[in-house]
Amino acid sequence: MNRSRRVLASLLATTCLVAGVGTASAQVDPASPGSAGAGDPYFPDYGNGGYDVIHYRVHDRIGFNRGRLTGRTTVRATATQALSRFNLDMMLKVRSVTVDGEQATFRKPNRHELQVTPADPIAEGEVFEVRVKYAGTPKNREWNGEDVWLGNRREVVAMGEPQIAAWWFAANDHPSDKATFDISINVAKKKKVIANGELQEVRKGKERNTWHWRAAEPMAPYLAFFGAGSFALDRGRTATGLPYAYAVSRQLRKKQRTKAFRFLQTTPKVLAFLEEWLGDYPFSTTGGLVTGLDVNFALENQTRPTYPYTGGAGSSWLVAHELAHQWFGDKVAVQNWRDIWLNEGLATYFETLWADNYGWSTPQKWLLSEWGSYPRTFWKLKIGDPGGNRMFDYPVYQRGGMAVQALRQRIGDTDFKALLRAWVTDREHGSVEDFIALAEETSGEDLEGFFDAWLFSSTRPARTVANGLS
Ligand SMILES: [Zn+2]
Repeated sequence: MNRSRRVLASLLATTCLVAGVGTASAQVDPASPGSAGAGDPYFPDYGNGGYDVIHYRVHDRIGFNRGRLTGRTTVRATATQALSRFNLDMMLKVRSVTVDGEQATFRKPNRHELQVTPADPIAEGEVFEVRVKYAGTPKNREWNGEDVWLGNRREVVAMGEPQIAAWWFAANDHPSDKATFDISINVAKKKKVIANGELQEVRKGKERNTWHWRAAEPMAPYLAFFGAGSFALDRGRTATGLPYAYAVSRQLRKKQRTKAFRFLQTTPKVLAFLEEWLGDYPFSTTGGLVTGLDVNFALENQTRPTYPYTGGAGSSWLVAHELAHQWFGDKVAVQNWRDIWLNEGLATYFETLWADNYGWSTPQKWLLSEWGSYPRTFWKLKIGDPGGNRMFDYPVYQRGGMAVQALRQRIGDTDFKALLRAWVTDREHGSVEDFIALAEETSGEDLEGFFDAWLFSSTRPARTVANGLS
């Protein structure tokens, strides 16, 4: 969805309402509350109903000593129903809320939800602006049994999946609602901030600076991030003219920092490899952050993945994984969290192809060797619907990547490449069902048995030609 269409829709809706006034037969839906969740089958309270976010403007101030975050988020959204009230997701204590500049009443029915009642109801199709002010200590705030905030007295990185957004901005926190972002983070002068998109300016104050980054391409809330700390920052353009920003934590020793930069500098080479398969890189800037925090995962934050310190050379498979996610997960976001195989299976596959590119195997040899090497328990998880607490289990990745290679073997290289290109072109979201339908359409084959065996069964797929195991 782009902005001009939304504005048009809103104008049309307004026109209809005006035209309806005074005619006895006019039927205007009475305003009702937007739902407290986006309807995700795994996480019913993630996201919200009744509106669609266009843009977030986030201003946060980070205090390192006490771990405090003080901020305000302006959310511009289109009402998709007549709203008497609506929810946002916000884990911190809320100080005030306005809707279109007017004080709104609000309450926190629980730690995760913020319920906002505007002074006047919002008409369907109307574009409205909510401003939420909040403050608190994001660390040790748990939701769904998870304490997701990463930071110490020297460095903070707001990254997480599926949860992180509500810990630092007022969000409609579900991947089905993408929006553009302005992210401004205020820190002490000696700190730097890196976030998604492009750096707009550093507003200099006496003791503190505000770093303003802009993500001009629609983004799922969990993919928005920032890192604040003592960073070595390298910004420039790749050989093909793509702006990049690499940041490496100064908590790492000098030798480690050199390795970390070398690791980040594989980005253009990996992108070129992925572009051969998938077409143009979907965003206008790239880069990455190597954090000095003790983090046990990397994350595909849009345009700028965050990596733990990995030890440098030889680990570019991780870059391949996170950059493959720029297409699978970021450009094409999951419709619901149940669709996680689309992210992790495809990213694992391209991570494997990248390694293959270095000549240690062919992908089909890899598949057959993997297929033969796991115990029965590995095959128990139905990766097409793994459950909310098992989305990031090893089989979602490994069986997931194997399923992709099996599909390639089953439908052939030509159809496989056409399928992937079609999947990542002109699409902002997708479900596993959509992917299966497109695979069948592209190949002209009935693939129900194939996908049942690979995604929806609790046993190892039989070694048959139909299952891509020849
Ligand atoms: Zn991944």
